[in-house]
Amino acid sequence: MRLLTLLALVLLGLSAQAAEKLKVVTSIPDLADLSRRIGGDRVEVQSICKGLENPHFVSVKPSHLVAMSRADVFVQVGLSLEVAFVPGLLENCGNARIQPGRPGFINASDGFAAIDIPGQVDRKLGDVHPQGNPHMNLSVEGGAVMAANILKGLCAIDPAHKADYEARHAAWTRELEAAQQRWKKLGEGWKGRKVCVYHQEHAYLIRGYGLVTLGSVEPQPGIPPTPASLASLIATLRKEKDVCLLAVAWARRSELEEVRNQAGVTLVELPNMCAGLPGTESWIEMMDLLHKRLAEAFGPQKGT
Ligand SMILES: [Zn+2]
Repeated sequence: MRLLTLLALVLLGLSAQAAEKLKVVTSIPDLADLSRRIGGDRVEVQSICKGLENPHFVSVKPSHLVAMSRADVFVQVGLSLEVAFVPGLLENCGNARIQPGRPGFINASDGFAAIDIPGQVDRKLGDVHPQGNPHMNLSVEGGAVMAANILKGLCAIDPAHKADYEARHAAWTRELEAAQQRWKKLGEGWKGRKVCVYHQEHAYLIRGYGLVTLGSVEPQPGIPPTPASLASLIATLRKEKDVCLLAVAWARRSELEEVRNQAGVTLVELPNMCAGLPGTESWIEMMDLLHKRLAEAFGPQKGT
């Protein structure tokens, strides 16, 4: 009888262990969505950065350190996107499991070829893209790379559930493939459409769809405009027709409106991460909205 009780207790303990979820912390919500999709009920996920924030300038809070200290897995984009907050959090969280090089650290841009890698980096200029454009979460190709790295990382840290992770990843990949067909269809005919940007978040889409960038409100990524740089940009844009100014929520409104009003361009508000604008809880939904807003802005009848 005693032996049976002991056995029951052992089994109870084992099932409690099996039910315990992996605590996953991600730098941005796009990675949180993909971690949830691939991790399913095996993971409990939270993101440090919120959907409407600027990932280059995130203020660290004590709650972020608490989350990092308890995490089993930490996922970042990399490519220096999160240098404003991730190195400090990793250094101060006192959690050896999620340090770079350990199984609990996932760099979601591994294997992704960044564009716009600067030839010479001068940090005094404040360029926040020293390793090339880090906004790979806003590229059509980026989703598959982020998901593959998360899958690899979760399988490495929790090999007992590898088959579950792989099955969920395969289901998500089928959704992605259908979405890519939608995006491709929407993007047909966008080649040569003229845009101006505030920051350079959407550089991968701009290149992918053959859009033409006429200028940037920020003279360098991360550097706010000066009156002179704004005047020069407005003068350039005034000579053009049918220009869309692409901006995200954190961009300075007064400058966007100045460019729109004085240069006569169309302001297009786009998501820069998921879980920010309504209807963008998932990465695929966020990319759907991005394509929808661009399609609406360009319109079928607008020629160049
Ligand atoms: Zn940037």
